[in-house]
Amino acid sequence: MSETSGMAAASQDQTNPLLKPWQTPFETPPFPEIAPEHFLPAFARAFADHSAEIAAITHDPAAPDFANTITALERSGKLLSKVSAVFYDLVSAHSSPALLEIDKEVSLRMARHWNPIMMNAVLFGRIALLHDSRATLALSSEQLRLLERTYTRFHRSGAGLDEAAKARMAEINERLAHLGTAFSHHLLGDEQDWFMELGEADRDGLSDTFIAAAEAAALERGMAGKAIVTLSRSSVEPFLKSSGRRDLREKVFKAFIARGDNGNANDNNASIVEILSLREESAKLLGYPTFAAYRLEDSMAKTPEAVRGLLERVWKPARARALADRDALQALVAEEGGNFALAAWDWRYYAEKLRQISANFDDAAIKPYLVLDHMIEAAFDCAGRLFGLSFAERKDIPVWHPDVRVWEVRDRAGKHQALFYGDYFARPSKRSGAWMTSLRDQQKLDGEVAPLIINVCNFSKGAEGQPSLLSPDDARTLFHEFGHGLHGMLSDVFYPSLSGTSVFTDFVELPSQLYEHWQEQPEVLRQFARHYQTGEPLPDDLLKRFLAARKFNQGFATVEFVASALIDLEFHTQPASASRDVRAFEQRELEKIGMPAEIALRHRPQQFGHIFSGDHYASGYYSYMWSEVMDADAFGAFEEAGNIFDPAVAKRLHDDIYASGGSRDPEDAYIAFRGREPEPDALLRRRGLLDRPKAA
Ligand SMILES: [Zn+2]
Repeated sequence: MSETSGMAAASQDQTNPLLKPWQTPFETPPFPEIAPEHFLPAFARAFADHSAEIAAITHDPAAPDFANTITALERSGKLLSKVSAVFYDLVSAHSSPALLEIDKEVSLRMARHWNPIMMNAVLFGRIALLHDSRATLALSSEQLRLLERTYTRFHRSGAGLDEAAKARMAEINERLAHLGTAFSHHLLGDEQDWFMELGEADRDGLSDTFIAAAEAAALERGMAGKAIVTLSRSSVEPFLKSSGRRDLREKVFKAFIARGDNGNANDNNASIVEILSLREESAKLLGYPTFAAYRLEDSMAKTPEAVRGLLERVWKPARARALADRDALQALVAEEGGNFALAAWDWRYYAEKLRQISANFDDAAIKPYLVLDHMIEAAFDCAGRLFGLSFAERKDIPVWHPDVRVWEVRDRAGKHQALFYGDYFARPSKRSGAWMTSLRDQQKLDGEVAPLIINVCNFSKGAEGQPSLLSPDDARTLFHEFGHGLHGMLSDVFYPSLSGTSVFTDFVELPSQLYEHWQEQPEVLRQFARHYQTGEPLPDDLLKRFLAARKFNQGFATVEFVASALIDLEFHTQPASASRDVRAFEQRELEKIGMPAEIALRHRPQQFGHIFSGDHYASGYYSYMWSEVMDADAFGAFEEAGNIFDPAVAKRLHDDIYASGGSRDPEDAYIAFRGREPEPDALLRRRGLLDRPKAA
C-alpha cells in the first residue's frame, strides 16, 4: 500500500461512523450518522482485519492449544460482526436502492472472504488436532461443545478437501451467495411493482381497519386519498378473508402466488434450478448423497427419513381434516346460492364465514381488544413473571427509523441485561414477514457483553390518532418474535459463537413458538386485552369463543405448511435433474401427496425465500414443526404444574432452554428441562387434529 492510500484509509477511519468507537449509550450503533457509502469501506477494513487475525492464528509458531486456536478464533472478526449486524438490519428493515445495490456487492465479497478461511487446510489441521485429543484437554463442557461445533463447521465447509475440490466449492459458494441475494431482490421487486386500487365499489366486506391500512399503504406510495391492496401477506390474507368480491379475491390471490413466477425480470425459476444443482454438487463434493443428507446431519432430526416420518405423521390427519372442512365450505357456498366449485381464493373467505357461524366468532370482533401497545406490555409482563425481567423505554438510543422503539431490559436484581429494539410497522423499505435479529450478541469472553436484540414485524399502523390494532395472528407473531428475542436477551454463555439463537435450525423455533402459548392464556388476555376505546377487558364469552376458534381451520393451516415442508425436502433429496422444470416438479409432488386443489402451498417455490434466499432453511423448513412438537410438549410442563408461571418449571426453562444458547446438545437440554423426550401427540392435540371432524 502506498503512503497516500494509507493516509486516505486513516482519514476514512476518522470520518466513517462504522469504524469509529461508538460514543452512544451502551455503545449502540449511531444510526443517524450512518450512510450507505460508509459500508463498502467499512467492510473492506473489517475483512482485512479479520484476515490478518486468521493468518496470525494459522501461522502461530506455538503448538496448537485451545487458547491460541479455538479461543483466538472466537475473538477474531469483531469489526466484521459489528458492521455486518448494522448492514443486514438496514437491508432487511429499512433498505433503499443504494443499499440493495451494495448488498449485491457485499454478498459476493462476503463469500470471497469466508471461503478461504473455512477451507484453510493449515487452520483446520490445528482444529482437527485439538478435536482428536479433546478427551485429554481438560475442557469445560461449554469448551468441549465449542470445539465440537468449530470442528464440524470447518469439516462441513470442505476444509478437508483437496485443492481442486476446494476451488470448485469456493466457486459454488460465491455463485450461491449471488443467486440467494438475487432471489430475494426479485421477490421484493415483484411485491413492490404490484398494487390494486380499491374504488368505492370494491370494498364490499372490508372492515374499517382494513380500509385504514389500505389508505396508509397508498399514502406510503404517494397516492394520498386512495386505498390499495399490496402483495404483503398482511394485506393479502385479510383481504382474502373478508372481501365479498369473488373476482377481486381471484385477482389478488393469483398475483400473490405468481410472485417471482411472472416471466419478467424478477422471475425466480432459473435461479431455483441453478441453486438446486449447485447445492447437489457441493453435497457430493463433501461426500453426501444429497443436499438434504448433508444438511440434516447437522440437526436434531439427523436424517431426511426422520423428517419425512414426522411430516407424514402429521400430513394424514391434517389432510383428512382439510378435506372434511372443504366439504363443509362447499356446502356453505351452495347454501348461499353459489353455483361454483370452491377455489383456492375462496377458502379463507368461506372459512371465516363458517367460523362466524359455527364458533360464532370473527377476528374483527377481537381486534379492538388487541392494542399493539398492550400486547407489547403483555409480552413484557410474562417475561417478568417467568424470568424476572423488567423493561423501561429509552428515548436516547439512536434508531434507524422514527417508528423504532427501544427498551432497556433489567434482570431480577435490577442489573442491566440487554437492550430490546421493537420495529413494528410495515413500510415499503421493509421486507415482508417478521423476524428477530441482533446488533450485538451476549458473551463473556472478554468481560460481560450485554446483547442488543431486535424484533421486526409488519403490522399495520392505526388510522390517524388511533392505536394500532392487531389481528389474533399478529398478536401471536408478536409473542413469537419476542420469544426469539428472549433467547437472545437471556443468553448466558461464555463464547460468542454459542450465544443465544446459535442453535440447530430445528431447535431455534422452540423458544419462539413456546412463548406463543402465553399469548393465548385466559389469564394473560383478561389482563391485557382491553378495548381500545372503552378500556373494557375482553368479555369472557368472547374470550371463550376466541380460544375455541383457535383450533378452527387447522387442517388448512397444517396442510399448507406441511406441503411446503415436503416440497422443500423433495427438492433436496431428489436429483437436481428432477426439478429442471420447477412448475412441473411442484405439480408432480403435489399430486403425489394428494394436495387438496382448494389449498395453495404456504410458499410456492418461486416465493420460498426461506429455502432459496439463503441456505439457512434449505431442507430445513420442517424445523418449525419439529420445534412445535417440542413447544406443545414443553408447555405441558406448566399445565401439569397447574400454574402457567410456575417458578420451578420457569427456572428450568430459563437455565436449560433460554439461557444455554448453543452451549449444550439440544436433545440433552430438552431432556434436562422436561425429564424425557418430547412426545408428538401434544402437537396433534393442540391443533385439534385428533378430534373427530364435526359433521358439515
Ligand atoms: Zn421464528
